[in-house]
Amino acid sequence: MPHQFPRRALALLPLLLLAACAQAPAENLPTAAPQAAAQTTVEEPLASFADWRRALRSEAIAAGIDAALFDRVFAGVTPDPAVLKADSSQPEFTRPVWEYLDGAVSSSRIGRGRVLLAQHSLVLQRIEQQYGVEAPILVAIWGLESNFGNNIGSHSVIRSLATLAYDGRRQGFWRVQLLAALQILQNGDITSDRMIGSWAGAMGQTQFMPTTYNQHAVDFDGDGKRDLWGSSTDALASAAHYLQASGWQRGQPWGFEVSLPGGFDYSLADPEQRRSLAEWAELGVRPLAPTGAAANARASLQLPAGHRGPAFLLLDNFRSILKYNNSTSYALAIGLLADNLLRPSEVKGQWPRGERQLGRSERVELQELLTNAGFDPGPADGIIGANTRKAIRALQLQLNWPADGYPTTELLQQLRAR
Ligand code: CA
Repeated sequence: MPHQFPRRALALLPLLLLAACAQAPAENLPTAAPQAAAQTTVEEPLASFADWRRALRSEAIAAGIDAALFDRVFAGVTPDPAVLKADSSQPEFTRPVWEYLDGAVSSSRIGRGRVLLAQHSLVLQRIEQQYGVEAPILVAIWGLESNFGNNIGSHSVIRSLATLAYDGRRQGFWRVQLLAALQILQNGDITSDRMIGSWAGAMGQTQFMPTTYNQHAVDFDGDGKRDLWGSSTDALASAAHYLQASGWQRGQPWGFEVSLPGGFDYSLADPEQRRSLAEWAELGVRPLAPTGAAANARASLQLPAGHRGPAFLLLDNFRSILKYNNSTSYALAIGLLADNLLRPSEVKGQWPRGERQLGRSERVELQELLTNAGFDPGPADGIIGANTRKAIRALQLQLNWPADGYPTTELLQQLRAR
């Protein structure tokens, strides 16, 4: 499950473009993550944890946190080495998008989701009436975030956030989250011993970061507490409230699979190329099934595995899901799972399962070689963001290859041979 990464905060703080989701392919990771990591490795000697905690205590009290609450919550808290280790890991290999989807949209998760959709139908109807977000999307988020409440993490949120704010990368970000967590405790929504989450402080059945919790969590079962740990009703309504704030449009699809005409210009498959569905239809881009979407709705075309894999048109609601978790693979999984909760719906295009994904060091090498060859892929950080995609496209056009901007071993070999 993608609990290891702080995601709810992505929409709030642009400087914290954090690595999205553990299982997401590296191609989809936000561009800023490694640079941010590199910049925060400062030479200053680390204060002792006791000194650090003293300074934090003053700051917390100035921010309105009760001193007695702070002392009670921090009694016996020490840095957690396992959390630091998780924060600093940079895996060489990440799963390809099709493998991620196999796990995220498995038949067992679909089956469980359908049962829960029926069981919770009354409360989901009330949530949809209040926030305008359809039940299948909420159940899909619940399924991916915590396996429907069965996997909410087991780390003490205060200890994890204290560790990261004291000695992690992006300490300023973690400090803000830690103060927000103290605020939640002071509000009485949860006690500190029950405030558990991922190693990175994502909490409850919807895996909200503390700042997102403070802004978007709601008490929907009416017991006076916003309880994302113990109340699936509060969790589902809070996810709806957050999606509503992220611009969710009721009745619009998130997107759908399409077919492309022969000789299609693959450079149009880019998040920056947004067109109305009518314009896409004129270009020969055809939905594989009736969509119910308005012809003037705008969409971008995405080829998650390059031109050899399936193609999708993604509407505004897809961008709302990305605000929840900034990973294309994650948002695709939510959309496909939600579709499957209503009726069986398989991706028809073939994933290039035989194609080997580039590892992190190969992606760095690809970027270095692109730079040497006179292209401008941005810093060699191993992350295929907008600049690297553009550079790959420019090279593909030069080679007269399909310009899908997708990194392959073929392309790396081409560059090595120069
Ligand atoms: Ca409640």
